[in-house]
Amino acid sequence: MNTPFPLPRLNGPALASIYLLAAILPLLLARAQSAAPMDRWEYAAAAMGMIALWGMAVQFVTSGRFEAVSGRLGIDKIMAFHKLAVVWLAVAVLLHPLAYVFPTWLQDPELAWIRMRFYLTDPVYRSGVISLAAFMVMVATSVFRDRLPWPYEAWRAVHLLLGLVAVLCGVHHAWAVGRFSAEGALAWFWNFLAIAVILVVLVLHGWRWWRLHRRPWRLKSITKRADRMWELDIQPDADTPQISYHAGQFVWMTEGTGRLPLFDHPFSIADSPSRDGLSLLIKEAGDFTSQIGNLPEGRVIGIDGPYGEFTLEAHTADAVILIGGGVGFAPILGILRDLVARGDTRPVRLAYAVGQPQNFACLDELRAATGKLDLQLWLFSEDPPVDSDMTHGRLTPARLSEMLNGLTASTTTALICGPGPMVVAVSDMLLEAGMPMRNIIYERFDYAGGARSRQDRARTRRMLGIGATFIVIVTGFAFSM
Ligand SMILES: Cc1cc2nc3c(=O)[nH]c(=O)nc-3n(C[C@H](O)[C@H](O)[C@H](O)COP(=O)(O)OP(=O)(O)OC[C@H]3O[C@@H](n4cnc5c(N)ncnc54)[C@H](O)[C@@H]3O)c2cc1C
Repeated sequence: MNTPFPLPRLNGPALASIYLLAAILPLLLARAQSAAPMDRWEYAAAAMGMIALWGMAVQFVTSGRFEAVSGRLGIDKIMAFHKLAVVWLAVAVLLHPLAYVFPTWLQDPELAWIRMRFYLTDPVYRSGVISLAAFMVMVATSVFRDRLPWPYEAWRAVHLLLGLVAVLCGVHHAWAVGRFSAEGALAWFWNFLAIAVILVVLVLHGWRWWRLHRRPWRLKSITKRADRMWELDIQPDADTPQISYHAGQFVWMTEGTGRLPLFDHPFSIADSPSRDGLSLLIKEAGDFTSQIGNLPEGRVIGIDGPYGEFTLEAHTADAVILIGGGVGFAPILGILRDLVARGDTRPVRLAYAVGQPQNFACLDELRAATGKLDLQLWLFSEDPPVDSDMTHGRLTPARLSEMLNGLTASTTTALICGPGPMVVAVSDMLLEAGMPMRNIIYERFDYAGGARSRQDRARTRRMLGIGATFIVIVTGFAFSM
């Protein structure tokens, strides 16, 4: 979310440092608090509970809607971090009660079971049990989201609600039974955390809703561009300011009188900022997008954005490789249109891959661009092509080498957008071809898991360092008390 006042957009290492420092804060406050002496396992249990509660709350601001927090990361990194952080939190949440009874279990397993049953059933611990249950249900419904018979919007609403229940009940649990949290600075810290989370939800779903209504946009025209693919020209109403964006970014869109942020969908801007308004290229994929072709001209639209780092402005380059697969062509088209609008002189190599030739969108415009830019164009179709400039099949290492021919890999930036498996394959092929990892930028349209590229795995390894630091922090807390 863009604030009216400019905030610094932090990079990954800066965010990781702030994240870890903030996680230590409740433990430092706990150290300053007086409490009856405990076993080391109990101190570790308390530390895990505090880190888990803090971490659950922080997820509300690291989920990609606050530009100052995640604006420089891009949606792929944000989602990768969100998923990994949830694994650490789930481990901490589960170990929290177990570590409390572990010393008892070592001496008397039967007594440990009695203690555990007491924790699970005694009313004084109820808010903690609800928090743990809400969090675990939230994790399970996310892991198995594709198998749930719910619309995506219902899952999103449940996800938000369970997250709120987990944090607010967790805060109540800390007040009610926390050895360090019942009073003093730590109690205030949890109060502040609860209020902050409620404020974040109010901003994301209240203030944003109000803004979507205060600043309406309108569907000026809608054009069929390919099989089940539509281009929407959306223009701001007279009192609505244009948004300032870079080609390749995306917006969250809602339509109709309600325009609830809970029901918004992300779409890349297939346009150049030099043109007023926005163009979106939308493929029919599910309940919302399959109705897009029926939207009447003049329909009121809500636009929130821009977001994302899938831009040439964020990644300097002497030469540009653009690769789009299916509707992943949308941001690629936006970047290409912007290069044309600016009369960019850099070499541009563009590959556009589809399943069937009728899925190609804006072919005439693409072909015309070869006359306006230093552009070489490859059109790949898995089904037999219908035109002489189309190639049968997929992108292969040999075809990528052909695209790279004459370019310096270290100063060329590749932007890839498309289905997950294609993005992974192409990203790995470019690495094999000698392109540095930092020059390979991609965006996927689906947050679900699936194949992971070498770059994804390298990113996960870097993020694992944060998880390892949590182990050090918990151990340090247990042994320093
Ligand atoms: C950064 C980004 C940019 C995108 N740009 C484009 C684009 O330019 N053109 C285009 O056609 N599609 C784009 N998409 C995909 C598009 O958002 C989904 O196809 C659309 O939201 C599906 O909604 P639905 O109700 O029709 O389908 P559903 O059947 O509800 O969902 C199909 C799948 O789309 C995803 N999805 C659905 N709703 C959302 C949501 N609110 N937020 C995130 N993911 C959701 C889920 O993975 C879901 O499984 C983009 C996605 C992302 C993340």
